[in-house]
Amino acid sequence: MLDPAAIVATPAPGRECGPCTLCCKVYDVPAVESPAGRWCRHLKPGAGCGIHASRPDHCRAFHCLWMTESWIGPEWRPDRAKMVLSLDPVTRFMNVQVDPGQANAWKRAPYHDQLRRWAAASLPLRRYVLVHVGPATTVVLPDRDVPLGAFGPGDRLVARERMGPVGPTADVEKVSA
Ligand code: SF4
Ligand code: SF4
Repeated sequence: MLDPAAIVATPAPGRECGPCTLCCKVYDVPAVESPAGRWCRHLKPGAGCGIHASRPDHCRAFHCLWMTESWIGPEWRPDRAKMVLSLDPVTRFMNVQVDPGQANAWKRAPYHDQLRRWAAASLPLRRYVLVHVGPATTVVLPDRDVPLGAFGPGDRLVARERMGPVGPTADVEKVSA
């Protein structure tokens, strides 16, 4: 599971969370015993974090990719898209954490086509686009989506890039520890 506290970045000029609070739902925040998939109990509807001044470093440090990258369009603001984008600080894989209350949000237009385009652009760098709905992970490739289920401790993604009928793609699998 992604640790949001590992992602420290600066918001792009003009980007603000506004009414969005989706990262207060989709991630585990152990410091306030908030499990992934449920709204944090400190969130006040319409008023944001009820413990803003003393919120954990975990929350203080995190800015999603929509906040830090001005090239990502307004339709990707997480409360509109129903998913939160982030980059893994080590692998640079794109993680797409979907609101479990809108589990098919990533399959809708225009999002799915855009995820495929990002997958195609990432492939030459050996980076992947991973969609997470609860514990289940799907790898989005330029030509198809590959569901791999839940990753346990030590499980890892193994990918072999190859040329497909319509361009570069990859075979992917989960290898257990
Ligand atoms: S998901 Fe992004 S835009 Fe939404 S509240 Fe969190 S950091 Fe702000
Ligand atoms: S403590 Fe505040 S900022 Fe952190 S998840 Fe809960 S409501 Fe959001």
